[in-house]
Amino acid sequence: MPQHDADPTVAALSEGEVLAAILAEVGASRAEVGPGDDAAVIAAPSGRMVATVDTLVHGPDFRLAWTSGFDLGWKAAAVNLADVAAMGATPTALLVALAMPDHTRLSFVTDVARGLRAACDALAPDCSVEGGDLTVSDTLTVAVTALGIPVTKPVTRAGARVGDVVAIAGELGRAAAGLDILFTRFRDDAGQPVPVMGARLSPEDHELVVAQLRPSPPIGAGVIAARAGATAMMDVSDGLALDASRLARASGVTIDLDAAALGPDRERALGGGEDHALLATYPAGAAVPAPFRPIGVVRPAGDIALRLDGEPVTRPPGWDPYRDWDSARG
Ligand SMILES: [Mg+2]
Repeated sequence: MPQHDADPTVAALSEGEVLAAILAEVGASRAEVGPGDDAAVIAAPSGRMVATVDTLVHGPDFRLAWTSGFDLGWKAAAVNLADVAAMGATPTALLVALAMPDHTRLSFVTDVARGLRAACDALAPDCSVEGGDLTVSDTLTVAVTALGIPVTKPVTRAGARVGDVVAIAGELGRAAAGLDILFTRFRDDAGQPVPVMGARLSPEDHELVVAQLRPSPPIGAGVIAARAGATAMMDVSDGLALDASRLARASGVTIDLDAAALGPDRERALGGGEDHALLATYPAGAAVPAPFRPIGVVRPAGDIALRLDGEPVTRPPGWDPYRDWDSARG
């Protein structure tokens, strides 16, 4: 088949050929020793390195009917970059493990590589892919390890103090709104996902779907927060309500959010994850640096980790429709 020749499956190629195609797309190495040796060598001039890993599995974490190879590479990079940024660090390197079915087309693999590079270029220009691993699996899986350099003392979840200002950088609820569009408008009668590609969406809806498939967390804001003296920080991956209560518990405080600061779609702002906004606390009286905006205040610990305008939030919203896929299908 001509198409087969033009775009072979990975099974028809050697590992070296697939790797060469990937390396042609991921851009130049910034490491002392980059891809191609047994391991990469990455400088840690401050003497400390931040490290994190996140795995995206087909089914629970993404659906190929909705997600292109480029989207997958972008998102796998973005979610890890956000975790590095949330420690007050500059991301410097990604290590990428890709497990794929043997019928996967080479063009899909190079699209993943282009997405990884594009996310680094757009969100974390000091970062690039410095190594990885390829293997075969029935379930398409991308595991990305991200490394970064803290600019000050790393900022953990545990440092918020009573009286601190609670602030957010980035979007709240837009990725969730995009997921709602996919769930309500891009499934067949049996509940299975149908392709988004080629569908007509309003510009607003298109932006929301993009926010879900290719999130753009404010990676540079992590270092801005650290330099401005943030006392605690994390990225919002599971919804502001759930993640703010995690930060509050880690710090031994209560977080009291200002409902008016959450915008008109308060439910989605509180419950919608996956925008990977950065949630930080700053000492009372300190200037909150842009792009952060105040959304609440830290109060003494009580029975309840999270309040909204002083009222207890006992069951933080935060439903993950992918993980509840089967029950959602009924
Ligand atoms: Mg995180």
